[in-house]
Amino acid sequence: MMNFFQRLQMFMQGRYGLDTLNKFLIGLSLVLYFVNIFVFDRLAHFIILLVIVAVYALLIFRALSRNINRRSAENRAFLKVYDPVKAWVKFNIRRFKDRENYRYRKCPTCKAVLRVKNKKGVHTVRCPKCNYEFKTKIR
Ligand SMILES: [Zn+2]
Repeated sequence: MMNFFQRLQMFMQGRYGLDTLNKFLIGLSLVLYFVNIFVFDRLAHFIILLVIVAVYALLIFRALSRNINRRSAENRAFLKVYDPVKAWVKFNIRRFKDRENYRYRKCPTCKAVLRVKNKKGVHTVRCPKCNYEFKTKIR
């Protein structure tokens, strides 16, 4: 006799399952659900509910799909947008945490972002990426 998880495993065989886009859709539906708690207008509340249902339908469709090539292509297209946004958010969180001890400067030649100790005065900085030396002022 098979238990539930073995049956589920057999059912999911050859199906697409979870990827970054599907995880994002789960997060999106949870955020919408939370936001909808504070929406008191009945029509707006209903529309957001419809969007949540549509997101779930898309999520279930993608997870159970057997067209794995197509779903991976969708995920790759999604990651092209998602990864830079995630990197930007991570960078700015780090920049905010470092705000007492470090300043961030852009290399004038290669545009790499450099972290400089927060000490007042004019400093000579060498870019580790392109080796260009430049002066920067920290006040
Ligand atoms: Zn550089």
